[in-house]
Amino acid sequence: MGRSSKDKRDIYYRLAKEEGWRARSAFKLLQLDHEFNLFTGVNRAVDLCAAPGSWSQVLSRKLRGREEKGEEEKGEEVKIVAVDLQAMAPLPGVTQIQGDITKVSTAQEIIRHFEGQTADLVVCDGAPDVTGLHDVDEYIQAQLLLAALNITTHVLKPGGTFVAKIFRGKDVTLLYSQLKIFFSGVTCAKPRSSRNSSIEAFVVCQNYSPPEGYIPNMSNPLLDHSYDVDFNQLEGPNRVIVPFLACGDLSAFDSDRTYPLQLDADKQYQYTPPTQPPISPPYQQACHLRKTNLLSREDAPSVCPDQSRDEPEL
Ligand code: SAM
Repeated sequence: MGRSSKDKRDIYYRLAKEEGWRARSAFKLLQLDHEFNLFTGVNRAVDLCAAPGSWSQVLSRKLRGREEKGEEEKGEEVKIVAVDLQAMAPLPGVTQIQGDITKVSTAQEIIRHFEGQTADLVVCDGAPDVTGLHDVDEYIQAQLLLAALNITTHVLKPGGTFVAKIFRGKDVTLLYSQLKIFFSGVTCAKPRSSRNSSIEAFVVCQNYSPPEGYIPNMSNPLLDHSYDVDFNQLEGPNRVIVPFLACGDLSAFDSDRTYPLQLDADKQYQYTPPTQPPISPPYQQACHLRKTNLLSREDAPSVCPDQSRDEPEL
């Protein structure tokens, strides 16, 4: 024996060990690059949710390898920043930040490392601890992707590329439309190394072009319980406004006003019973007790003797 069954089963797990990648996920980024040419012209890259570091290894080998061969863009130095909640072993040419991608301080730290310059490429393979409850997992994954998108709007150059893990659940189209606000090209890709049985795929978002006047922010009222809706109102293009339409004749009765019973001076008010009374209203028992003069009596029965025969009074 000696080898685990997983070792025998998964070719990418074996290949990763043979080629010295820290995780089999390295092949996912390599295959995405094969399809989309992700690294062409890229000198500054950010790897969000990077631990244990196989995507950072790919970035390091690809970008720095080109630098070593003298193929880098003229005068441009390769810079790679990797962020994760967890610490990870050092990698050549990769600056590490141990931080949370939902925090604005992490975005600021990335910008500091690039000395005010923006990134050409942001990748995010972030995944929360899976609970096994599909709806919950999909929701948390979507929130992580939105956090990655938020941070990307702070650090990515116009025209840049964003690649992120996505769960293709039932609400995935909502995420696509959110991404389409910021990128002219959004593609969902499934590398061969990503198991077919997994709901995981990757969005490749090309040509970063935020709405004019968009100010990057990290607000996500769903995640941030200290979010103050009164003070943190989104403004300008950050705020999505849908049309508000008042319908009906504006000179008609106002549903919030109280009117006298006799509306027409020439016409006496006349009671009209409801067309269909409620079947079993909660006040039915009180109506019965009042009719039988028992409402305020201590010995009143607690249950109406025959509710079904009583017509409710409205
Ligand atoms: N791409 C990595 C590689 O190739 O080695 C693997 C990433 S692993 C699938 C997912 C990572 O997301 C974990 O290391 C986890 O710590 C990180 N993560 C989850 N939530 C995070 C957050 N809010 N901020 C930063 N990292 C986070």
